[in-house]
Amino acid sequence: MPRLLEAVTATPDAIAYRIEFARDASGRPRMIGCVEGMLPLICQRCLEKLDWYFDTRFEFLVIGNEQEETNGRDAVVCSGGRIELGPIIEDELLLALPNAPVHAHGACEVPAIPTAGGQPPPRRSNPFSALRALRSYHGRERSS
Ligand SMILES: [Zn+2]
Repeated sequence: MPRLLEAVTATPDAIAYRIEFARDASGRPRMIGCVEGMLPLICQRCLEKLDWYFDTRFEFLVIGNEQEETNGRDAVVCSGGRIELGPIIEDELLLALPNAPVHAHGACEVPAIPTAGGQPPPRRSNPFSALRALRSYHGRERSS
C-alpha cells in the first residue's frame, strides 16, 4: 500500500480485514468489509508520535465491468473472478485518515518555540524609580 505508507511514520505492524459477500434485495452481489488496526501518525499539536486506532467499514456493489449500472452506489469491479482488494482497502484507510490527527484533548501541548534571543526580553526597569532615586540624591545634597 504505497500511498498509505506515505501518510504514516512507520510501517504499520498489522492491519486486519474481513470481507464478506452477500446479495442485496435485488439479488446483486455486494461486498461488505471491515478493516481495523493501528497506524502510526504524527500529532499535529505536539508533533510527537500518535497511535491512531481505526475500525472502518465499507460496502460495495460488485460489478462485472465499469459500464454496469451502479445506481450511484460505490462499486468494485470483479474482473475474471478476481477483485483487487489491496487498492480497495488502501482507499478506505486513506479516506478514514484524520485530516489533522491530535492526541486526546489535554494529553499534550504545543511545543514551546524558542525565541530568537533564547529568552524573552528582560522587563524594563521602571523609569520612575530611577527618577525617584535621582530626586532623593538631589534632596540629600540640598539638605547638606
Ligand atoms: Zn500530541
